[in-house]
Amino acid sequence: MAQKTISHDVAIIGGSFSGLSAALYLARARRTVAVFDHGRTRNRFSAHGHGFLGMDGLSPDEMRIRGRSDVTAYPTVDLHETSVDAVEPDGDGFRLTTGAGAAVTARRLILACGMRDTLPPIDGLDACWGKTAVHCPYCHGYELADRPTGVLMIGEASLHQVQLLQDWTDRLTLFTNGHEVADDMRSELARKAIEIVDGPVASVEQTDGAVEAVVLAGGRRVPLDVLYLGSQSAPACPFAETLGCALEDGPFGSLVSVDEMFQTSVSGIYATGDLVRPMFNTVFAAADGAMAGVACHRSLLQ
Ligand SMILES: Cc1cc2nc3c(=O)[nH]c(=O)nc-3n(C[C@H](O)[C@H](O)[C@H](O)COP(=O)(O)OP(=O)(O)OC[C@H]3O[C@@H](n4cnc5c(N)ncnc54)[C@H](O)[C@@H]3O)c2cc1C
Repeated sequence: MAQKTISHDVAIIGGSFSGLSAALYLARARRTVAVFDHGRTRNRFSAHGHGFLGMDGLSPDEMRIRGRSDVTAYPTVDLHETSVDAVEPDGDGFRLTTGAGAAVTARRLILACGMRDTLPPIDGLDACWGKTAVHCPYCHGYELADRPTGVLMIGEASLHQVQLLQDWTDRLTLFTNGHEVADDMRSELARKAIEIVDGPVASVEQTDGAVEAVVLAGGRRVPLDVLYLGSQSAPACPFAETLGCALEDGPFGSLVSVDEMFQTSVSGIYATGDLVRPMFNTVFAAADGAMAGVACHRSLLQ
Protein backbone atom coordinates (compact mmCIF):
# COMPACT_ATOMS: atom_id res chain seq x y z
CA MET A 1 0.00 0.00 0.00
CA ALA A 2 1.37 3.47 -0.90
CA GLN A 3 2.52 5.44 2.17
CA LYS A 4 0.91 8.79 3.02
CA THR A 5 2.86 11.81 1.74
CA ILE A 6 3.59 14.41 4.44
CA SER A 7 4.00 18.02 3.34
CA HIS A 8 6.37 20.59 4.87
CA ASP A 9 7.52 24.12 4.12
CA VAL A 10 11.15 23.00 3.88
CA ALA A 11 12.99 19.69 3.57
CA ILE A 12 16.65 19.58 4.61
CA ILE A 13 18.96 16.77 3.51
CA GLY A 14 21.70 16.53 6.16
CA GLY A 15 21.14 17.06 9.87
CA SER A 16 24.57 18.18 11.02
CA PHE A 17 26.16 21.60 11.59
CA SER A 18 24.76 23.34 8.52
CA GLY A 19 21.44 21.49 8.16
CA LEU A 20 20.50 21.73 11.84
CA SER A 21 21.38 25.45 11.96
CA ALA A 22 19.12 26.07 8.96
CA ALA A 23 16.37 24.03 10.67
CA LEU A 24 16.75 26.04 13.89
CA TYR A 25 16.21 29.38 12.13
CA LEU A 26 13.24 28.01 10.17
CA ALA A 27 11.72 26.50 13.32
CA ARG A 28 12.05 29.83 15.11
CA ALA A 29 10.14 31.35 12.18
CA ARG A 30 7.45 28.75 12.97
CA ARG A 31 7.85 26.96 9.64
CA THR A 32 7.40 23.20 9.25
CA VAL A 33 10.68 21.47 8.52
CA ALA A 34 11.65 17.88 7.75
CA VAL A 35 15.33 17.07 8.40
CA PHE A 36 16.84 13.85 7.06
CA ASP A 37 20.13 12.51 8.35
CA HIS A 38 21.92 9.16 8.29
CA GLY A 39 24.56 10.15 10.82
CA ARG A 40 27.74 10.18 8.69
CA THR A 41 29.24 13.58 9.47
CA ARG A 42 32.52 14.43 7.80
CA ASN A 43 34.41 14.66 11.12
CA ARG A 44 33.25 11.26 12.40
CA PHE A 45 36.77 9.80 12.05
CA SER A 46 38.09 12.04 14.85
CA ALA A 47 37.62 11.39 18.57
CA HIS A 48 37.22 15.11 19.32
CA GLY A 49 36.07 18.19 17.42
CA HIS A 50 37.69 21.55 18.07
CA GLY A 51 37.03 25.24 17.50
CA PHE A 52 33.26 25.39 17.98
CA LEU A 53 32.56 27.84 20.79
CA GLY A 54 30.81 26.12 23.70
CA MET A 55 31.53 22.62 22.33
CA ASP A 56 35.35 22.66 22.00
CA GLY A 57 36.75 19.15 22.52
CA LEU A 58 33.47 17.23 22.44
CA SER A 59 33.16 14.10 20.32
CA PRO A 60 31.46 14.52 16.93
CA ASP A 61 28.62 12.30 18.18
CA GLU A 62 28.04 14.47 21.25
CA MET A 63 28.07 17.62 19.11
CA ARG A 64 25.45 16.14 16.81
CA ILE A 65 23.29 15.00 19.74
CA ARG A 66 23.36 18.50 21.25
CA GLY A 67 22.50 20.13 17.94
CA ARG A 68 19.64 17.70 17.37
CA SER A 69 18.18 18.26 20.82
CA ASP A 70 18.16 22.05 20.28
CA VAL A 71 16.25 21.62 17.03
CA THR A 72 13.81 18.87 17.99
CA ALA A 73 12.64 20.98 20.95
CA TYR A 74 10.60 22.89 18.35
CA PRO A 75 7.28 21.18 17.52
CA THR A 76 7.37 22.07 13.82
CA VAL A 77 10.58 20.08 13.17
CA ASP A 78 10.45 16.41 12.12
CA LEU A 79 13.82 14.68 12.31
CA HIS A 80 14.09 11.49 10.25
CA GLU A 81 17.13 9.32 11.00
CA THR A 82 17.25 7.84 7.53
CA SER A 83 18.74 8.49 4.11
CA VAL A 84 17.02 10.34 1.31
CA ASP A 85 17.35 8.12 -1.73
CA ALA A 86 15.55 10.23 -4.35
CA VAL A 87 14.41 13.81 -4.91
CA GLU A 88 12.31 15.05 -7.81
CA PRO A 89 10.54 18.29 -8.68
CA ASP A 90 6.87 18.20 -7.65
CA GLY A 91 4.75 21.13 -8.85
CA ASP A 92 6.29 24.26 -7.26
CA GLY A 93 8.22 22.16 -4.74
CA PHE A 94 9.99 18.85 -4.30
CA ARG A 95 9.18 15.27 -3.45
CA LEU A 96 11.68 13.25 -1.42
CA THR A 97 11.73 9.49 -1.00
CA THR A 98 13.57 7.95 1.93
CA GLY A 99 15.44 4.66 2.14
CA ALA A 100 12.45 3.34 4.10
CA GLY A 101 10.16 4.19 1.17
CA ALA A 102 8.39 7.12 2.88
CA ALA A 103 7.57 10.22 0.81
CA VAL A 104 7.71 13.85 1.92
CA THR A 105 6.92 16.93 -0.12
CA ALA A 106 8.24 20.41 0.60
CA ARG A 107 8.05 23.85 -0.99
CA ARG A 108 11.78 24.42 -0.56
CA LEU A 109 14.82 22.16 -0.40
CA ILE A 110 18.07 22.78 1.49
CA LEU A 111 21.00 20.56 0.58
CA ALA A 112 23.28 20.22 3.63
CA CYS A 113 24.64 16.74 2.96
CA GLY A 114 28.33 17.66 3.31
CA MET A 115 31.21 16.14 1.37
CA ARG A 116 32.73 12.66 1.08
CA ASP A 117 36.55 12.53 1.24
CA THR A 118 38.70 10.28 -0.92
CA LEU A 119 42.27 9.83 0.29
CA PRO A 120 45.22 9.06 -1.99
CA PRO A 121 45.59 5.27 -2.40
CA ILE A 122 48.48 4.87 0.04
CA ASP A 123 48.64 1.82 2.32
CA GLY A 124 48.02 2.66 5.97
CA LEU A 125 46.63 6.15 5.38
CA ASP A 126 42.92 5.37 5.88
CA ALA A 127 43.53 4.00 9.39
CA CYS A 128 45.11 7.32 10.46
CA TRP A 129 42.54 9.71 8.92
CA GLY A 130 41.14 12.10 11.53
CA LYS A 131 43.61 10.84 14.16
CA THR A 132 47.20 11.61 13.14
CA ALA A 133 46.66 12.06 9.38
CA VAL A 134 44.63 15.24 9.25
CA HIS A 135 43.69 18.12 6.98
CA CYS A 136 43.47 21.21 9.20
CA PRO A 137 45.87 22.65 11.78
CA TYR A 138 43.14 24.82 13.29
CA CYS A 139 41.12 21.65 14.02
CA HIS A 140 43.94 19.32 15.15
CA GLY A 141 47.22 21.27 15.32
CA TYR A 142 47.04 22.28 18.97
CA GLU A 143 46.85 18.66 20.17
CA LEU A 144 49.43 17.42 17.60
CA ALA A 145 51.94 20.28 18.04
CA ASP A 146 55.73 20.08 18.45
CA ARG A 147 56.08 16.65 16.85
CA PRO A 148 57.86 15.55 13.67
CA THR A 149 55.25 16.41 11.06
CA GLY A 150 54.92 15.78 7.33
CA VAL A 151 52.78 17.29 4.61
CA LEU A 152 51.79 14.99 1.77
CA MET A 153 51.71 17.14 -1.35
CA ILE A 154 48.38 17.05 -3.19
CA GLY A 155 48.81 20.27 -5.17
CA GLU A 156 49.79 23.94 -4.84
CA ALA A 157 47.71 24.31 -1.64
CA SER A 158 50.12 21.94 0.14
CA LEU A 159 52.92 24.50 -0.27
CA HIS A 160 50.84 27.01 1.65
CA GLN A 161 49.90 24.38 4.25
CA VAL A 162 53.48 23.36 5.03
CA GLN A 163 54.49 26.99 5.66
CA LEU A 164 51.39 27.64 7.79
CA LEU A 165 52.35 24.71 10.01
CA GLN A 166 55.49 26.49 11.23
CA ASP A 167 53.35 27.93 14.03
CA TRP A 168 52.69 24.41 15.32
CA THR A 169 56.06 22.67 14.89
CA ASP A 170 59.60 23.34 13.74
CA ARG A 171 60.14 19.75 12.49
CA LEU A 172 58.50 19.84 9.07
CA THR A 173 58.95 17.68 5.97
CA LEU A 174 57.20 18.11 2.63
CA PHE A 175 56.67 14.85 0.70
CA THR A 176 56.30 15.91 -2.92
CA ASN A 177 54.88 12.47 -3.94
CA GLY A 178 55.62 13.10 -7.61
CA HIS A 179 54.47 16.75 -7.75
CA GLU A 180 56.72 19.49 -9.14
CA VAL A 181 58.07 22.19 -6.81
CA ALA A 182 59.63 25.24 -8.49
CA ASP A 183 63.26 26.13 -7.64
CA ASP A 184 62.34 29.45 -5.99
CA MET A 185 59.83 27.64 -3.72
CA ARG A 186 62.48 25.04 -2.85
CA SER A 187 64.82 27.87 -1.78
CA GLU A 188 62.04 29.48 0.26
CA LEU A 189 61.25 26.22 2.07
CA ALA A 190 64.96 25.57 2.68
CA ARG A 191 65.29 29.08 4.17
CA LYS A 192 62.48 28.12 6.58
CA ALA A 193 64.23 24.82 7.47
CA ILE A 194 61.44 22.77 5.88
CA GLU A 195 62.90 19.56 4.47
CA ILE A 196 61.74 18.35 1.05
CA VAL A 197 61.59 14.63 0.30
CA ASP A 198 61.01 13.81 -3.38
CA GLY A 199 59.64 10.61 -4.88
CA PRO A 200 56.41 8.64 -4.68
CA VAL A 201 55.10 7.66 -1.25
CA ALA A 202 54.37 3.91 -1.01
CA SER A 203 52.89 3.55 2.47
CA VAL A 204 52.32 4.99 5.90
CA GLU A 205 53.49 2.86 8.82
CA GLN A 206 51.06 3.15 11.72
CA THR A 207 49.74 1.45 14.84
CA ASP A 208 46.08 1.97 15.81
CA GLY A 209 45.91 5.13 13.69
CA ALA A 210 49.14 6.64 15.08
CA VAL A 211 51.49 7.51 12.20
CA GLU A 212 55.01 6.16 12.74
CA ALA A 213 56.73 6.72 9.38
CA VAL A 214 56.26 7.51 5.72
CA VAL A 215 57.86 4.92 3.44
CA LEU A 216 58.90 5.92 -0.09
CA ALA A 217 58.61 3.67 -3.13
CA GLY A 218 62.41 3.31 -3.12
CA GLY A 219 62.28 1.93 0.46
CA ARG A 220 63.46 5.01 2.36
CA ARG A 221 61.66 5.29 5.72
CA VAL A 222 61.09 8.77 7.24
CA PRO A 223 59.94 8.60 10.90
CA LEU A 224 57.02 10.94 11.69
CA ASP A 225 54.21 11.39 14.21
CA VAL A 226 51.80 13.51 12.18
CA LEU A 227 50.89 13.80 8.48
CA TYR A 228 48.81 16.62 7.00
CA LEU A 229 47.09 16.31 3.63
CA GLY A 230 44.18 17.64 1.66
CA SER A 231 41.68 15.03 0.48
CA GLN A 232 39.81 14.95 -2.82
CA SER A 233 36.16 15.54 -2.04
CA ALA A 234 32.77 15.27 -3.72
CA PRO A 235 29.21 16.00 -2.56
CA ALA A 236 28.03 13.23 -0.22
CA CYS A 237 24.62 13.12 -1.94
CA PRO A 238 24.01 13.38 -5.70
CA PHE A 239 20.95 15.66 -5.64
CA ALA A 240 22.58 19.00 -6.55
CA GLU A 241 23.73 17.41 -9.78
CA THR A 242 20.59 15.35 -10.50
CA LEU A 243 18.33 18.37 -9.93
CA GLY A 244 20.43 20.48 -12.31
CA CYS A 245 22.17 22.86 -9.86
CA ALA A 246 25.32 24.48 -11.27
CA LEU A 247 28.59 23.16 -9.84
CA GLU A 248 32.03 24.77 -9.84
CA ASP A 249 35.60 23.55 -9.47
CA GLY A 250 37.12 23.91 -6.00
CA PRO A 251 40.76 23.21 -5.08
CA PHE A 252 39.94 19.62 -4.04
CA GLY A 253 36.84 18.78 -6.12
CA SER A 254 33.42 20.05 -7.17
CA LEU A 255 31.41 22.48 -5.04
CA VAL A 256 27.80 23.58 -5.47
CA SER A 257 27.55 27.17 -6.80
CA VAL A 258 25.44 29.48 -4.63
CA ASP A 259 24.85 33.21 -4.30
CA GLU A 260 25.44 35.15 -1.06
CA MET A 261 22.08 33.89 0.28
CA PHE A 262 23.00 30.24 -0.47
CA GLN A 263 20.45 30.00 -3.30
CA THR A 264 21.64 27.57 -6.00
CA SER A 265 21.08 28.10 -9.71
CA VAL A 266 17.74 26.19 -9.40
CA SER A 267 14.82 28.11 -7.95
CA GLY A 268 13.73 26.82 -4.52
CA ILE A 269 16.94 24.87 -3.83
CA TYR A 270 19.52 26.15 -1.33
CA ALA A 271 22.88 24.55 -0.55
CA THR A 272 25.00 25.16 2.52
CA GLY A 273 27.98 24.06 4.62
CA ASP A 274 30.88 22.06 3.19
CA LEU A 275 28.97 21.56 -0.06
CA VAL A 276 29.60 25.18 -1.00
CA ARG A 277 32.96 26.22 0.49
CA PRO A 278 36.58 25.22 -0.18
CA MET A 279 37.77 26.13 3.36
CA PHE A 280 35.49 24.19 5.64
CA ASN A 281 34.87 23.79 9.34
CA THR A 282 31.99 23.32 11.76
CA VAL A 283 31.64 27.01 12.63
CA PHE A 284 31.50 28.11 9.00
CA ALA A 285 28.99 25.33 8.26
CA ALA A 286 26.72 26.41 11.12
CA ALA A 287 26.91 30.06 10.01
CA ASP A 288 26.15 29.11 6.41
CA GLY A 289 23.20 27.05 7.59
CA ALA A 290 21.76 29.95 9.60
CA MET A 291 21.95 32.23 6.57
CA ALA A 292 20.42 29.59 4.28
CA GLY A 293 17.58 29.12 6.79
CA VAL A 294 16.90 32.86 6.91
CA ALA A 295 17.03 33.18 3.11
CA CYS A 296 14.80 30.18 2.63
CA HIS A 297 12.28 31.56 5.14
CA ARG A 298 12.16 34.91 3.34
CA SER A 299 11.52 33.17 0.04
CA LEU A 300 8.40 31.57 1.55
CA LEU A 301 6.76 34.92 2.36
CA GLN A 302 3.86 35.73 0.03
C1 LIG B 1 38.58 14.05 9.92
C2 LIG B 1 37.95 15.41 10.05
C3 LIG B 1 38.00 16.07 11.26
C4 LIG B 1 37.43 17.33 11.38
N1 LIG B 1 37.55 18.01 12.55
C5 LIG B 1 37.04 19.25 12.66
C6 LIG B 1 37.22 20.00 13.87
O1 LIG B 1 37.87 19.56 14.83
N2 LIG B 1 36.69 21.25 13.91
C7 LIG B 1 36.00 21.79 12.86
O2 LIG B 1 35.52 22.93 12.99
N3 LIG B 1 35.82 21.11 11.70
C8 LIG B 1 36.32 19.85 11.59
N4 LIG B 1 36.17 19.15 10.42
C9 LIG B 1 35.34 19.74 9.35
C10 LIG B 1 33.84 19.46 9.66
O3 LIG B 1 33.65 18.08 9.84
C11 LIG B 1 32.95 19.97 8.53
O4 LIG B 1 33.29 21.28 8.14
C12 LIG B 1 31.48 19.94 8.99
O5 LIG B 1 31.13 18.65 9.45
C13 LIG B 1 30.56 20.36 7.85
O6 LIG B 1 29.24 20.37 8.29
P1 LIG B 1 28.06 20.06 7.24
O7 LIG B 1 26.82 20.20 8.02
O8 LIG B 1 28.24 20.87 6.00
O9 LIG B 1 28.29 18.53 6.80
P2 LIG B 1 28.47 17.22 7.70
O10 LIG B 1 28.80 17.54 9.10
O11 LIG B 1 29.40 16.33 6.96
O12 LIG B 1 27.00 16.58 7.71
C14 LIG B 1 26.34 16.14 6.57
C15 LIG B 1 25.22 15.22 7.04
O13 LIG B 1 24.40 14.87 5.91
C16 LIG B 1 24.01 13.52 6.03
N5 LIG B 1 23.65 13.01 4.69
C17 LIG B 1 24.42 12.99 3.57
N6 LIG B 1 23.73 12.47 2.54
C18 LIG B 1 22.51 12.13 3.03
C19 LIG B 1 21.35 11.53 2.47
N7 LIG B 1 21.28 11.17 1.17
N8 LIG B 1 20.29 11.31 3.27
C20 LIG B 1 20.31 11.65 4.60
N9 LIG B 1 21.39 12.25 5.19
C21 LIG B 1 22.47 12.47 4.40
C22 LIG B 1 25.21 12.82 6.66
O14 LIG B 1 24.82 11.63 7.33
C23 LIG B 1 25.73 13.90 7.62
O15 LIG B 1 25.23 13.71 8.94
C24 LIG B 1 36.76 17.91 10.27
C25 LIG B 1 36.72 17.24 9.03
C26 LIG B 1 37.33 15.99 8.92
C27 LIG B 1 37.33 15.32 7.58
